[in-house]
Amino acid sequence: MDQHLVLWDVDHTLIDSLGLGGTAYQRIFPEVTGKPVREPALMDGRTDLGTIDQMLRAHDIEPTDEVVAEMTAALAGVFDEVRVELAEKGRVLPGVRDALAAFGADPAVHQSVLTGNTAEVARIKLDAFALLDHFDLEIGAFGDDHLRRPGLVPVARERAERKLGIDFAPERIVLIGDTLNDVRAAHESGARLVAVATGSYSADELRSAGAEVVFDTLPAPEDLRAALG
Ligand SMILES: [Mg+2]
Repeated sequence: MDQHLVLWDVDHTLIDSLGLGGTAYQRIFPEVTGKPVREPALMDGRTDLGTIDQMLRAHDIEPTDEVVAEMTAALAGVFDEVRVELAEKGRVLPGVRDALAAFGADPAVHQSVLTGNTAEVARIKLDAFALLDHFDLEIGAFGDDHLRRPGLVPVARERAERKLGIDFAPERIVLIGDTLNDVRAAHESGARLVAVATGSYSADELRSAGAEVVFDTLPAPEDLRAALG
């Protein structure tokens, strides 16, 4: 049986974390740089590295390795502090637990994440919602791996090959995500995409951007599997 690598986006695909990401940037930026926030952080399916780079440049700060590392560490610190609040006020989106359990029981599916969150923040979020056990995070790709989301797909592919000894051809890699950046990541890498309109983009907007398989919300496991072919 053909093996598949299913890579889930985190925010607005698996969970709704109450916009805490934007709030975190508002807080860490002045702490790390000593400057007030003039331009808000742009997120929206970007990687944290990309968001940090953009935010620093928008404030005329050179994104050196040092300041970027300070920003990512501060980001993890904030999410570690709000772990409990996240679990209390945020939520796992409908259908997610069923889909994760179904793929988890399928020996032909290897499941991880492809997310704009840094590895540490992704781990904190998944742990807060007791979702961590469903994923092999060693074969995922994260917001601190690349400036642009499409660059994350080859990272996950290489990690999966190294750990599992399976070279997943792009058509056997499936991204599940909610933004135009998820669409871009699939198109640029040749991976397949299941788009869900559970974030800020409507199903029509995702379709117009070229997503072929679009659901309003995550479907039942059998429909999700059928969509994978
Ligand atoms: Mg998302």
